[in-house]
This record gives sequence, C-alpha cells and structure tokens, in this order.
Amino acid sequence: MEPKKRICIVGAGPAGLSCALMLKRYGISATIFEKEEIGGLIRNAWRVENIPLMPVRSGEEIAAELQKLIEINGLEIIRDEILSIEDGKLSGAKDEYPYDFLVIATGTRPKRISEFEISDRVSYEYVKLPKNISSLAIYGGGDIAFDGALKAFESGVKPEIFIRSEHPRALPKLIEETRNRKIPLHLKTPIREVRNHEGRLIIVTSEGEEREFDALLIAIGRVENLPRINVVDLSRVLIIGDAAHVNYRQMSIAIGDGIKAAMRIIELLGGA
Ligand SMILES: Cc1cc2nc3c(=O)[nH]c(=O)nc-3n(C[C@H](O)[C@H](O)[C@H](O)COP(=O)(O)OP(=O)(O)OC[C@H]3O[C@@H](n4cnc5c(N)ncnc54)[C@H](O)[C@@H]3O)c2cc1C
Repeated sequence: MEPKKRICIVGAGPAGLSCALMLKRYGISATIFEKEEIGGLIRNAWRVENIPLMPVRSGEEIAAELQKLIEINGLEIIRDEILSIEDGKLSGAKDEYPYDFLVIATGTRPKRISEFEISDRVSYEYVKLPKNISSLAIYGGGDIAFDGALKAFESGVKPEIFIRSEHPRALPKLIEETRNRKIPLHLKTPIREVRNHEGRLIIVTSEGEEREFDALLIAIGRVENLPRINVVDLSRVLIIGDAAHVNYRQMSIAIGDGIKAAMRIIELLGGA
C-alpha cells in the first residue's frame, strides 16, 4: 500500500481552514500551521454582511465559529511561523516539517509606516489595539479604515478618520454608515508625525495641527504575505486566498479557494 501523504496548510484563516475542512470530508487529515490567532484577518471585521446565505456576524463571532469547527472536526493545528519552504520541507521558527502537498494560505501584510511605530498604541489591525481606549485616530481611506471606525464607534470609542486624498476609496455603504454616525472625516489631511505624550499619542497633520488620541490604526493598504519559497517542484504547492489575489480580498473568495484547493489535492491523489 502507498504510504499516507502528508498535507500541510500554512495559515488558519478562512482559506486555510476551508481547505482543511473540505479535505476532512474526504476523510483526509491535514496539518495546519498558524503563527497568530485562529481566523486570520476577518477577526477585525465590524460586520460581515456580504456572504450569501450567512447571517450577519462580527469578525470575532466568525473566528469563534471557526474555532468550534476545528474542535468538532479534530483539525490539527501547530502553532509555528513558517519562515521558508523548500521542496518537501517547511522550515518553521520552532521546527522543520515534511510535506507531500502544500497549501499556502498566508493572507496579506500591511503597508507600513515604520516611523509611526512608536508604541503599542499604534497598530495595523483593530484586534491588536490596546483595550480601554476612548479615542482612536485612523489613517487610511479604504474599507479597513472605515470598518475600523464603525467597530470603534460601536464599542464606545470615538474614532476620527484622516485621509490623504480628496475622496475615500471605501465601499459607499461603509462611507454612508460612518456619515450617519457623524464620525469625523478629515479629507486631504495626511498624518505627518506621531509622538508619545504622557501615555497618549500626538498626531501631527500635514497642516501642522496637533491632536491627541489614545491610539492610532494605520490602514493604508495591504500586500501579499508569503514565506520565502525556494521550491523547484511547484506541482504540489497551491497558493490560495488573499495571498493569491491581493486585489480581491474577500472572505467568500478565500473560502471558495480553500474548497477548490482541497478538490485539486484529491484529484492529484488520484481521487478519494
Ligand atoms: C477590517 C476588515 C474587515 C473585513 N470585512 C470583510 C467582509 O465584510 N467581507 C469579506 O468577505 N471580507 C472581509 N474582509 C477580508 C477578509 O478578512 C479576508 O479576505 C480573509 O480573511 C482572507 O482569508 P485568508 O485565509 O486568505 O487570509 P487571512 O485571513 O489573512 O489568514 C492568513 C493566516 O495565515 C497566518 N500566517 C501568515 N503567515 C504565516 C506563516 N508564515 N506561518 C504561519 N501562519 C501564517 C496569519 O496569521 C493568518 O491567520 C475584511 C478584512 C478586514 C481587515
């Protein structure tokens, strides 16, 4: 009998978990590697209402559901960061792992402004902001910035959005929701400098205005996030979800990708 193939999935976001769950339906177990929390980027979402047939949920509720599915289906999660990928081998921060098939579902990473990273009050993800803040500056004009403002508002935090350009790029629906809540929107107002001041942050705008906030969320865009890949034989490696198409960052696309990857692996294995 042919030895059992080892299937590894890097990333326990919607794409990686959907792949593992679909494989499980074929009776195949995969090993999932995750460096942070279960659920990936969707944990940050204020309200997810664009997934057909799924009731409206917050990102945190979705992450909790995913955690339950992991337990119900007995999915194997290894807490490690995969740093590089060679033919048949993953190198993690803690160990090395062999694979026969590999699914890379590592999502995206933020575009950074390193000179603003002066304390843990500055974050690129809402869920990584300190708790117990009462005011939040948000830098960016896309969906993540507006979504963050709505999430903050709902939690009793006072958000203000600073945008470099004249027009925000976010979904009209999100812009309207922030307008309905009278969340201040500063157009053509790039942030020039961020300073610490008595445990809070001073935000200096391009016009030289100085404002004090408890925290800053930077959401100026994202790029694909891939480990170092030194692989010659790519026939057993699949890249899925946001990592594969950074311009189409949607959970339903990531889920569909995960399911498709599982079906492709079944094909490569010669059918279930
Ligand atoms: C604020 C916000 C609101 C959103 N709202 C919506 C919405 O309403 N509807 C919608 O459809 N989409 C929404 N999205 C987009 C959605 O979150 C993403 O499309 C989806 O999470 C992509 O899934 P993914 O699995 O491809 O990647 P991710 O969710 O980014 O998951 C990747 C996972 O891989 C892990 N990882 C990365 N590198 C490594 C490594 N080297 N080793 C081990 N683990 C690693 C990460 O820690 C992460 O857990 C929103 C996103 C944000 C930020």
